[in-house]
Amino acid sequence: MNNHELFQRARQLMPGGVNSPVRAFKSVGGEPFFTSRADGAYLWDVEGKRYIDYIGSWGPMIAGHNHPAVREAVERAVRNGLSFGTPCPAEVTMAETITRLVPSIEMVRMVNSGTEATMSAIRLARGATGRSKIVKFEGCYHGHGDSFLVKAGSGALTFGVPTSPGVPKQNADLTLTLPYNDLDAAKALFAEQGEQIAGLIIEPVAGNMNCILPREGYLQGLRELCDAHGALLIFDEVMTGFRVALGGAQAHYGVRPDLTTFGKIIGGGMPVGAYGGRRDLMEQVAPSGPIYQAGTLSGNPVAMAAGLAVLELVQAPGFHDTLASRTRLLCDGLQAVADGEGVPFSTTRVGGMFGLFFTAEQVETFDQATATDTAMFNRFFHGMLARGVYLAPSAFEAGFMSSAHSDQDIADTLQAAREALREARTA
Ligand code: PMP
Repeated sequence: MNNHELFQRARQLMPGGVNSPVRAFKSVGGEPFFTSRADGAYLWDVEGKRYIDYIGSWGPMIAGHNHPAVREAVERAVRNGLSFGTPCPAEVTMAETITRLVPSIEMVRMVNSGTEATMSAIRLARGATGRSKIVKFEGCYHGHGDSFLVKAGSGALTFGVPTSPGVPKQNADLTLTLPYNDLDAAKALFAEQGEQIAGLIIEPVAGNMNCILPREGYLQGLRELCDAHGALLIFDEVMTGFRVALGGAQAHYGVRPDLTTFGKIIGGGMPVGAYGGRRDLMEQVAPSGPIYQAGTLSGNPVAMAAGLAVLELVQAPGFHDTLASRTRLLCDGLQAVADGEGVPFSTTRVGGMFGLFFTAEQVETFDQATATDTAMFNRFFHGMLARGVYLAPSAFEAGFMSSAHSDQDIADTLQAAREALREARTA
């Protein structure tokens, strides 16, 4: 069965033919391919076509697809059973690993997705402070919990429904939104409503409105604001954790949040999330405290084995330096290609995460990101896809590098980009 036939079947059976919106290619047009196999930096579709993959399952595959160490760890775990419903040793190792690598995390709770992690973290923030309001940033995505689908990024932004129908107004009213990278706006909001704010949640590097880096001192400024008003600072490191640096964005930028959420990499491709932080806060979570949160499959032994294997790999000396230099090679190369073709273009990058923008400006805000030439992006995306390079199918998603991407892969990508840009420019 080819890609088109599968998509036709899928569309009859699943909303948009997919189980997660951005996969449907709705914003870039055309039809998605169906992957049958993945290895290293590559995906192969059901028709046997190979793609250099810059999404890496939206983040988890930082060591490349189907890494032998991860596969073998999973195979070993599977032999002992898929799920126990009791504590298992791998959960303890996972908690030890996370708390050792990320100093702000004194205790952690495993969940099954990034969405669960962020929903649980704000429940804890509300429970611990006795306050109701949450602050988030326009264009940031924290999963699909009701409180977060207000001016959200990622698919919500891509499809023009940043605030979803089905989110009760009473719920949305408790979510205050701010422009990213504007400290004065945050100060003004806290001056007005600071005593009602339970917590402020932020992607310390925004990866769901393309990739936007925090301005110098911005995260520190938010830390100070939260302290001054008794609100909790929550870093959503679902994307950035173990990717922009071993200790995540909080290590890279030197800011210590009260709570942090994780996902993606810590599951190594299995459905995993986690939230953690200050001991005095985490001890308020059930059963040690009254704030309820639970999960049948949380801490699953197979998922823990996959995540631990990846966390082992990213601790190799120089792992993140190499990843960052590969990312630089790609971004600088694309910039040179675009400059050579006379196409207005800019990039952002930190660690193994990057953004590509069809604008001459250096993008630092949501408004700048949404003002870029998305039609040009869509043509470029398809030009790259046709040449076997898979970029995120939306102008509002970050790109992800893995340690499996070779210099040759990057050179091939740049060659494809030269042709695709030439085509996109004249289209
Ligand atoms: N937070 C951030 C920053 C994310 O990027 C995502 C997903 N891309 C989530 C939360 C939600 O994670 P999940 O899709 O695993 O529910």
